Amino acid sequence: RLSKRRARQEESGGSEGGRSFADLPAVRDFELMKTAMEALDLPNPFFRPHQGVAAATTVIGNEEFLNFSSYNYLGLNGDPRVKAAAHAAIERHGISASASRIVSGERPLHAELEAGIAAHYGTEGALCFVSGHATNVTVIGHIMGPRDVIVHDAMIHNSCVEGARLSGARRLPFAHNDPQAAERELAAARRGAGRALLVIEGHYSMDGDVPDLARFIEIARRHDAWLMVDEAHSMGVLGQTGHGIAELQGVDPSGVDIWMGTLSKSLSSCGGYVAARRQLIDWLRHTAPGFVYSVGLAPVLAASAIESLRILGEEPWRVERLNANATRFRDGLRARGLDAGASGGHAIVPLMTGSSVRAGRLSAELFKRGVNVQPITFPAVPERAARLRFFLSAEHTPEQIDRALDIVAETAAGVAPSELAS
Ligand code: PMP
Repeated sequence: RLSKRRARQEESGGSEGGRSFADLPAVRDFELMKTAMEALDLPNPFFRPHQGVAAATTVIGNEEFLNFSSYNYLGLNGDPRVKAAAHAAIERHGISASASRIVSGERPLHAELEAGIAAHYGTEGALCFVSGHATNVTVIGHIMGPRDVIVHDAMIHNSCVEGARLSGARRLPFAHNDPQAAERELAAARRGAGRALLVIEGHYSMDGDVPDLARFIEIARRHDAWLMVDEAHSMGVLGQTGHGIAELQGVDPSGVDIWMGTLSKSLSSCGGYVAARRQLIDWLRHTAPGFVYSVGLAPVLAASAIESLRILGEEPWRVERLNANATRFRDGLRARGLDAGASGGHAIVPLMTGSSVRAGRLSAELFKRGVNVQPITFPAVPERAARLRFFLSAEHTPEQIDRALDIVAETAAGVAPSELAS
């Protein structure tokens, strides 16, 4: 009886009684991809439940792994001081803000966090949203309109692309990290267009490389465009005290019109923010759909981010250790003859694998040998740019890094590119 029921479910697309979704081409493509992975005997590396705090190590299925898959960059997720701040906020406020902030969801913690972020960037104001992704979608989608143009790095995060789509503006990607290409697009697009927004990241999440901020500021100025920098992977990561790309390169941060970032990485919480002039922040606070029509950031998350920001200010050695770890790992890969791409050695180090299948197989082999690292495959990156992506943490010890390097080199030698190029 069970198998008959299963057969009926499969016929109807998985849910008994419901209509199938197999008409959707994207669903069919997805089913095909799953079948291909099964045929290649590649286990699904996604959605593996971790049993505790994931930092330098993590426990999955009761086994401990060396972990390179979490952006707990500063090791603050699980820090006793952050947990204590969270507990205190829960005691006082419960969990939910229970409403949009514009009606009755505002809590003192929101203004405190936003003041801290504005101070961090030296801007007049800041505004927090319920996720980093939602921040880019709603802010870009709201600021720009159909008569405008958005010029962005080809490797920009999906959330910026989604925001650009929502805005209806003309969207012009430029070759990754190429200021000249950005300038060409901007110059051509400016003729006749309304307003222009240039969007880059402070530290690219796929390659781990950084832009030449001063050049982008200059280009944006010359073409009367606003410059927005997504610091999801650079806040708390770059610069001696974690102030981001501007600190790393000694550039005046006031040349950037909109700083964007997330609370989910260095700040070990969840949520997103923009920091900018008061005029923009005030307008967003009263009108941005993803802010006005969504619940306020949970007070417990605001409290965790406030405490993380405080610790970041007091313990810059965490940033230094993160960067030392990432550089050690990147240089270690190269010393073993492996391709670490364009990584700047800050927190993100790719291992280029040459094909998606090789990335999948390497990830599976490493998992068997106690190293947890995710493959990044087509279509997230072009097929030839498939890779493993290693996230380093301030928590990794040099010994753990060296052990991982040896295991990675041994495993990579055993999974030949030629075997898998087909
Ligand atoms: N921007 C960039 C560059 C990101 O990498 C991410 C997420 N990895 C986001 C925005 C979205 O942030 P969150 O995961 O906190 O929603």
